[in-house]
Amino acid sequence: MEHTRCLIIGSGPAGYTAGIYTGRADIHPIVYEGMQPGGQLTITTEIENFPGYPEGISGTDMMADLKKQAQRFGADVRQGYIVKADFSQRPFRCIDDHDNVIEAETVIIATGASARWLGLESEQKLYGQGVSACATCDGYFYKGLDVAVVGGGDTACEEATYLATLCNKVYLIHRRNELRASKSMQHRVLSNPKIEMLWDSTTKEICGNDLDGVTGADIQNVKTGEIRHIDIAGFFVAIGHKPNTDFLKGQIELDEQGYIKVQNPGSATNIPGVFAAGDVCDPHYRQAIVAAGKGCIAAMDAERFLQANS
Ligand code: FAD
Ligand code: NAP
Repeated sequence: MEHTRCLIIGSGPAGYTAGIYTGRADIHPIVYEGMQPGGQLTITTEIENFPGYPEGISGTDMMADLKKQAQRFGADVRQGYIVKADFSQRPFRCIDDHDNVIEAETVIIATGASARWLGLESEQKLYGQGVSACATCDGYFYKGLDVAVVGGGDTACEEATYLATLCNKVYLIHRRNELRASKSMQHRVLSNPKIEMLWDSTTKEICGNDLDGVTGADIQNVKTGEIRHIDIAGFFVAIGHKPNTDFLKGQIELDEQGYIKVQNPGSATNIPGVFAAGDVCDPHYRQAIVAAGKGCIAAMDAERFLQANS
């Protein structure tokens, strides 16, 4: 069994920033990369809104830089993922996918969240070529064009409203005839002349090809069966996110959607010595710079905890 003062689970902006800060504090953290080394940003092309890169940077390059920076200060970055955690007593015990047991005085959970998808083959094929799950990230690429958003919750309404500030027209496709979103968000959408509601509608097919990306979508009215084709350049899926916390169930307090509950301000969970940062505890902002900032907070909280408890 191996012992560490700090185990960081996850290698996105939150995990690596926590690695940089705990590394510089001489804590010698172990960082588990998980199944998606570098996190969500490695599946996107250009990051234009992370401060410090005036010309933008590819997600893969940015995450490679963050990894190097964490390693420079002594973070021990490892392949593999944590399958089980036992937080019932300190030091905590985490088991990786090769049955290695890590005993940790503190744990920072930075396992992110994954977008939920419709499950269409065309959605997968055109992902990154017009299909996206993040309007704040990719909306700018569709300035002046027509786009569609799927979903009826606050996220879909927020994404549609945001896209309406950039795009020529936004179709909001919802499977029922009533939005789930809050009343104020509904009002914003329904009073926006650039947003057209497609009620009682599901997506049969997203149309497009490798060369042109998304060119349209076939939308079916679930009540009449009628299929309508819309011409669009971007297709945004906003049907919710799933935090990556399945392996933590029963060990730590989660909200009803599975996000880790953290104290505010700070990163403390209900287990003293276990901290969380980034999308895994943030259903609202889901931006790399926010995750990085929260990684910093978690590292400082872990450092203070170690000082007070060793
Ligand atoms: P993530 O980046 O999700 O990283 C989670 C990490 O945890 C991964 O390394 C994963 O392998 C690891 N992990 C998961 N489970 C385990 C486990 N059991 N054991 C070990 N490791 C585990 N934000 C922006 O600010 N600007 C953008 O332009 C932008 N573009 C985006 C484009 C796309 C397509 C997507 C999907 C998101 C985009 N975002 C963007 C959002 C941004 O990527 C996230 O907010 C950010 O990555 C969250 O960072 P994180 O560290 O919390 O988690
Ligand atoms: P959500 O509230 O769960 O809404 C998901 C939406 O997607 C629902 O309208 C649902 O339809 C639809 N949907 C789910 N699966 C679908 C599928 N397979 N095909 C088509 N449609 C599908 O998720 P969210 O909008 O991401 O919000 C998550 C939480 O964050 C909520 O608590 C929300 O209030 C909060 N949030 C708040 C703000 C804000 O306050 N500014 C902004 C964003 C999010 P049905 O309605 O038919 O189930």
